[in-house]
Amino acid sequence: MRYAALLILFLTSCAGSVIRRQYTGTPNDFDFRHPGCTASTPQSDFTVRYLGSGGVYINWKNDGLLIGPYFSHAGGVLAAQFGHVHFDDERIASGMKDVKNVRAILFGHSHFDHLGDLPRVAKLVSGVIYTNDSGVNLLGNYPDVQTRAISVEGKTSMDVPGAAIRITPVKWDHAPQLCRLHHWPCTYAMGAADPQTRPWETLHLRELRSGQTYAYVIELLDGDRVAHRIYYNDAAAAERPVPEGSYDLAIICMASYDFVRGYPEWLLARLKPHHVLISHYEDFFVKQKTSSWSFAPLLTNAKANRFIERMKDAVRDPRPPVNDVCGVKTDRWSMPVPGETLVFQ
Ligand SMILES: [Zn+2]
Ligand SMILES: [Zn+2]
Repeated sequence: MRYAALLILFLTSCAGSVIRRQYTGTPNDFDFRHPGCTASTPQSDFTVRYLGSGGVYINWKNDGLLIGPYFSHAGGVLAAQFGHVHFDDERIASGMKDVKNVRAILFGHSHFDHLGDLPRVAKLVSGVIYTNDSGVNLLGNYPDVQTRAISVEGKTSMDVPGAAIRITPVKWDHAPQLCRLHHWPCTYAMGAADPQTRPWETLHLRELRSGQTYAYVIELLDGDRVAHRIYYNDAAAAERPVPEGSYDLAIICMASYDFVRGYPEWLLARLKPHHVLISHYEDFFVKQKTSSWSFAPLLTNAKANRFIERMKDAVRDPRPPVNDVCGVKTDRWSMPVPGETLVFQ
């Protein structure tokens, strides 16, 4: 028995214990307790790193597009109501390691688990900031950052300055967050915030108000040609108009999907993606160990299984990443461990 325990300890602590797990259809597949998870990342013009929460770092021909980078974590579910914003500089530095040549930072909505690290992240990288009215208003105490911010509300396609990347905001929605009221304690779910001039450390997390949610179509350009098309959202939403067509990659939010009828299958039927990156699945409230990831509140292995079951016919012509991505996956979709990079060709 003792030897068996020692053997298990040895096997789970050896340097080669990298999770490269194919999904077999059982809840046990969602096991993110594997240390040292770093798959190889071959060179390519087109890579996508999953940063955790709704965050991704897209690199196209050495230009970077950073979306929703949030690393600090709030400290338990109750903190969302009673806690204050804090910046965990160590985790921010570690999450932003090797994030370079950023030409733009993009946000779908302004909740703390997306926008919450922006004052710090904006100091580390350059580039314009695309957010909603609420996001621009919230930056009143950070004039250097606010001058870089552009509200996407009412805008159509925009070329990212200095990069061969075009973004198109898509008016979107946000799954209910156990809150249907439009007064306390549900103010975080409300529309655009009033202009805010206090340092964020003095704000309650709930004061980073969502504002109007947007999804994005992101086109990676090669001259006049669209070389790759990506769809991105950071919240589950019910059926609505979305630019249809063929997408190389759909980056879609899993959290709270079961509060929304027909998601994600209605969306994927329109997008016809060649691969799906499932994001925003892990618990962004707690300070997770980098070697171990647990699900967001209310999300379970069984619910994750159901999500995957519902999207199983969505990818008809799979074009998976060419590298071995740490996480749970098939050739149709990836649920990468935060920090993992997907390499496409
Ligand atoms: Zn949100
Ligand atoms: Zn979120």
